Amino acid sequence: LWISTFLALTPSPAYHVFALPLPERELIARIRRRVEGVAPLLADVARSGKFSPRHIVTGIGDDCSILRIPPGSDALITTDFSLEGVHFRRDWHPPEVVGHRCLARGLSDIAAMGAEPIAAFLSLALPAKLPQRWVDGFLRGLLNLAARSKTELAGGDTAESPNGVLADIVVLGSVAKGRAILRSGARPGDALYVTGELGASAATLNLLSSGRKAKLRPEAYPQHFFPVPRIAMGKVLREKRIASAMIDLSDGLSTELFHICEESGVGAEVQEGAIPRAHIGEPKREVDSRFALHGGEDYELLFTSPKPVPAKIAGVPITKIGRITRKKKLLLLDSVGRSRELRPAGWEHFRS
Ligand SMILES: [Mg+2]
Repeated sequence: LWISTFLALTPSPAYHVFALPLPERELIARIRRRVEGVAPLLADVARSGKFSPRHIVTGIGDDCSILRIPPGSDALITTDFSLEGVHFRRDWHPPEVVGHRCLARGLSDIAAMGAEPIAAFLSLALPAKLPQRWVDGFLRGLLNLAARSKTELAGGDTAESPNGVLADIVVLGSVAKGRAILRSGARPGDALYVTGELGASAATLNLLSSGRKAKLRPEAYPQHFFPVPRIAMGKVLREKRIASAMIDLSDGLSTELFHICEESGVGAEVQEGAIPRAHIGEPKREVDSRFALHGGEDYELLFTSPKPVPAKIAGVPITKIGRITRKKKLLLLDSVGRSRELRPAGWEHFRS
């Protein structure tokens, strides 16, 4: 992990060490200090009986991290890239936002299984000319979210990037053995639900890319800049055995619903008018329905259930948007009952 991999793989370490914004060892030491600065916060949470930081037997500073997952649990692992020019732009996204969103992607996948995060691992490749304050901001954003979601940064790797910032986050989570909520559990007759409101992130991105706004205040567009992974929601949906299948909305409703239907061998009908559309901007306005339908990176949860579902869980509203059908088709129904086929390629097309 930190240090050892770097020295083993780099033919001329001296060059790389001095080309990085901070010498490699200093950068790692700095990250380690930050992580240890977060540790007292985790200890407070532990005293309240809700979390044990002792999952991490050995964190940053040795060849490997040693983790101990709770007995009777399955370990869940997810990995996500955050690439400059693909997932973020340095002129649009402040470093704190990039760090936050980098970890949020991984945490959202853990939430989508009804699991709880334990630890994260960060591999970071940085251009030689990147200002150190950018790296500091990135870490601040990432570690703030880590502390809030009781996740410890337990290791990683750093290197010089020839072109742009590349971050890869691995998140480890745990869930009671055999109890993770899969994409494959949807059955005909189950109702279809989403958490929160959809479309804010894509609509914000659209504002930025249309050139109508060169810069947006992140605080005014929190869904895009500081999305909150639905960890508490996912956990309740699993514990109360409410969700039969679940997925997070990282690539947009139409695409993610397609994944659930494909894995479960079913189809679905969605009431277009029922989809809860987000409100963004100053003053706030409801987003266009194509953003709610196809826009990615909202990190809300999409799930199916054969049972009555509460209107709110962990303070977040839940909305019924349709049902699962035996016929393997995705249909979008309008207010007068006309139907048209819902195509999962929406977001990909939209992104281009
Ligand atoms: Mg996912």
